[in-house]
Formats: sequence, C-alpha cells, structure tokens
Amino acid sequence: MARYTDAEGNEWTIELDAPTIRAVRSATCEKPDCDHHRDHCQGVDLVDVDGANNVFVRLGNVDNIELLIDTLWELCHEQANARSIDTTTFAKGLRGDALDAAGVALREAICDFFPKEKRELLKTMGQRNEQLRELAVARGIARINSEETEKMVLDELDKKVDADIKKVLTRLNSASSTPDSAESTPDA
Ligand SMILES: [Zn+2]
Repeated sequence: MARYTDAEGNEWTIELDAPTIRAVRSATCEKPDCDHHRDHCQGVDLVDVDGANNVFVRLGNVDNIELLIDTLWELCHEQANARSIDTTTFAKGLRGDALDAAGVALREAICDFFPKEKRELLKTMGQRNEQLRELAVARGIARINSEETEKMVLDELDKKVDADIKKVLTRLNSASSTPDSAESTPDA
C-alpha cells in the first residue's frame, strides 16, 4: 500500500478502488448539476492516465497544489477522522518535502489500482519521467548559474539603464528649450 509521511510526522496510506475514485471526482468537481460521470465531469479523474491533461500532469502542476491537497484529503479523510485531525490541520501537514512524498505515494496508488500490464507500463513511464524531470531541473539550475545567463541578464540591465538615461536626457532637453522652439518642433 502507498504511504507518505506529512510535515508533522503523521503517516498516511493511500489505496484506490472504484468508489473512492468516484468520490474524489465528485468532491473536486465544481460543475453544477454534474452526475460526475468521467466522460464530462471536471473533477479529478484518478484513472485518467493517458489524456493530454491526465491526472499526473494535472496534479503535478504546481499551480494545482490546492487541488492535490483536496484530492489527498478525500483519500485520507477517514484516517484523519479516526485521529481527530480536521481538514485544516491535515492541509498544514502538506508542505515542502511532504508534498513531494504525497505526490509520489499518490502516483504509486494510482499505478497499483490498474491490472498488471498497465501497472508495469505506468510504473516504468513514471520512473523515466522522474529521471527526465530531475535532469531538466539540474539543467535549468546550471543555466541559471551559468556565465552566459549572467552576461545576458547584465546586457539586458545595461540596455534598460541606457534607455532610462536617454529618457531623462530627452526630458531635460525639452525642459531647457524655449517655449517657442518647443512649439515649433513636432513631437518626435
Ligand atoms: Zn462532476
């Protein structure tokens, strides 16, 4: 069973089954009068693993952290109730590394839900994605720290400073010219 430990040291388990998947879809759907059928529901579909906006993409997006937390709450609220932990306290435990750990556990739970062939395919794809993501992060950091980026940023700053100086000089010039000459000169 997939597990993660939150920032407060509480351990949570995640296990998917059809009723839980439906409950998550329904709890995270804001569409009025929706019957939460997966064909048209806008809630989180934990078994959408292939579409362009599949669950890994959707919940892996940092803009959707609150949606990830809502989803985790739906998956863990029975354990939370048994320990008298409310939604707010539960959500407070999901920050920093705990969010990563919860994301990994959720991915594992999603894979475990599927039959063997699909499960193995998803696990292999997940590992490959993780490798590529780490590579991309390392490359991004290397680029940010590179001399090339430093030069690019400094060049841009220089350009901006030059433009600001030019603006100030133009203003000074027009302020010092006589009203007559200012009137006779059309705006540049
Ligand atoms: Zn719905």
